[in-house]
Amino acid sequence: ETALDARALRADFPILSRLVDGRPLVYLDSAATSQKPRAVIDAEVAFLTNENAAVHRGAHTLAAEATELFEDARATVAAFVGAPPEQLVWTSGATAGLNLVAYAIGNATVGRGGPASSRLALAAGDEIVVTEAEHHANLVPWQELAARTGAVLRHIPVRDDGTLDLDAAASVIGPRTRIVAFAHVSNVLGIVNPVAELVVLAHAVGALTVLDACQSAPHLPLNLPALGVDLAVFSGHKMLGPYGIGGLYGRADVLDALPPFLTGGSMITRVTLDRTEYLPPPQRFEAGTQPVSQAIALAAAVRYLDTVGMDAVHEHERVLERRLREGLRTIDGVRLLGDSPAGIERVGLAAFDVDGVHAHDVGQYLDSRGIAVRVGHHCAAPLHARFGLTASVRASTALYNTVEDVDLFLETLADVRGFFGVGA
Ligand code: PMP
Repeated sequence: ETALDARALRADFPILSRLVDGRPLVYLDSAATSQKPRAVIDAEVAFLTNENAAVHRGAHTLAAEATELFEDARATVAAFVGAPPEQLVWTSGATAGLNLVAYAIGNATVGRGGPASSRLALAAGDEIVVTEAEHHANLVPWQELAARTGAVLRHIPVRDDGTLDLDAAASVIGPRTRIVAFAHVSNVLGIVNPVAELVVLAHAVGALTVLDACQSAPHLPLNLPALGVDLAVFSGHKMLGPYGIGGLYGRADVLDALPPFLTGGSMITRVTLDRTEYLPPPQRFEAGTQPVSQAIALAAAVRYLDTVGMDAVHEHERVLERRLREGLRTIDGVRLLGDSPAGIERVGLAAFDVDGVHAHDVGQYLDSRGIAVRVGHHCAAPLHARFGLTASVRASTALYNTVEDVDLFLETLADVRGFFGVGA
């Protein structure tokens, strides 16, 4: 009935067959972290069992095998986002990737990067533009960078229907704008943002674009070079991979110009007691021992996604998303955050408020029925404030969710106000 057989896929995810309080688990919290297929768990165990060694050094067999697997993983994950391997930097996650970029630009600003990096330097009064819907990971590092450099942070507002106000964007992004940082998909609204339009506005004023692709990478075909962004981050644990691994993609000339953030071993060509020369990207940004087993397991995760096919994943989740959203609209007292009209591209995610019942109570009630959702501000407090809330409930899907998962969630939620004695 959808583009893929989710019921068959579920057999690949051991955790999905466990019980919660005696009931089958209905996992609708993949936007926080995804579940892992056996192939990913096995890949990490197999590496640690058979090839484990420090990469890029050592003259022994294990070191050579580990290095080859590690660099093959880079090529696999880079290809998944449409990039050549040298344009993919390993990070420990999206938060680390965004901080890397913000601190590196700060280093360029104080002249730590040579002539090539001067084009990335900020001056007092320069502007950094984000959106009102950003995850704190794509907001706080820019606040910090602004504070360190005298730059000014501005934002593109979100309309009542959850879409970005592109008319406002055209005036917020101006001659002083040097950086435009935004999510591909908001982790609260689920809306796919108009990347091409924002890139055009940013590039027209010579600004650098930074894309947070955390919530798009697991759900739709992603080609970062084709999107035209300068830099982009994603997080392994949200795309069936392990914790502690993520990616930073960069255009070749931008990565070349970017000074390092963390410094130390493995990112140098020559070191004396006084000074150091750095390796080119991506190694320039990979100081210290890297998350090797995690990178190899992330490659297994994207191979799994590729085998299913990202077009099929996207189509499947579109069906779930429509059913979820249409169902939520029919439940008394439920208000969706950013319920834009049909025709807006989304992933399988909906955040909502239940009139008269606190989000945490909704979450506990659902949990008592085996249904896992996320409650709180989902690290997007400014967006919640925009909608007059401090917390919401979020249900989010992945390729392994079924129509039955969504229906059970909706049926259970329909009783929540009655359970708490609220409403008619
Ligand atoms: N951006 C978005 C849109 C997210 O959903 C998340 C994860 N909650 C992050 C950034 C941060 O990712 P991580 O915690 O894995 O670094």
